[in-house]
Amino acid sequence: MDWAHRRSCRAVWLVALASACVTPGFAAEGRDLGIAPPPYGEFVVIPLRVHILSATDLPEIDCGLTDADIDRIVAKVNGIWHQAGIHWGLDAVIREPAARQNEFTKARDAGTGLPLDLFRSLAPESSKTKEGLHVYYIHRFSVNGVYLGDATAFVQETAKLRPVAGGIEEPLPRVTAHELGHALGLPHRQDLTNLLASGTTGTTLNAAEVERAREFARKTPGTRTVGELRQTAEATEMDGDLTRARLAWSHLAAIPGAGAAESARRRDQIIIQPKRSD
Ligand SMILES: [Zn+2]
Repeated sequence: MDWAHRRSCRAVWLVALASACVTPGFAAEGRDLGIAPPPYGEFVVIPLRVHILSATDLPEIDCGLTDADIDRIVAKVNGIWHQAGIHWGLDAVIREPAARQNEFTKARDAGTGLPLDLFRSLAPESSKTKEGLHVYYIHRFSVNGVYLGDATAFVQETAKLRPVAGGIEEPLPRVTAHELGHALGLPHRQDLTNLLASGTTGTTLNAAEVERAREFARKTPGTRTVGELRQTAEATEMDGDLTRARLAWSHLAAIPGAGAAESARRRDQIIIQPKRSD
């Protein structure tokens, strides 16, 4: 199905999704100039928890993304967000059955459209921590992605985008990064190459968006500065909590700049022995 056709299909049953990314309107043709990432020490790290929802009897929900897919997607999301000095620290990939599948099935079969809160209700409460952002991947819905508020975004693994000059080649990292932009307080901006343009492969941000996103990031529960995360890494390593220490060093190693190599060395020094069951 081509992009234009998808757009026309979307409009039918997503009237309720006011905040969803369904209103492409390419009013402006402006292009942002690239912004260079800030120095290493000015980065902030926001916890990111990825949820892969499964649902045996709901093929539209059942998501087939692999761990390698998630690693690649998050690396590319970070490639986009590093221009703002923001690093998404992938703290967990959670594979779990979608919640309240019966209610979803009933609503779908009733044929009256699927209200926004129905997708929210698919997110299991037990795995929803208060810190950071949560991205839920499902197979397909009528938009590429939506930020639902309450630190929760949904993204369809079948996302498709309109290519623009200089855009990213893979849709899922761009859609994910776009929804995380909404989570950081950014509204749509219909410059084709912008990350907040609707439905394009654009990834740029301007200085005002960077400033606003960083301000939001600092207020997001769980966000750490590079200095704070380094303290966490040192402290947890000292306490013998090697899993947390290794994760913290991993995040620090993935930030571009002066501290990356040393953090990678510290990460690689931590050997976590697999648990034995015998
Ligand atoms: Zn959007």
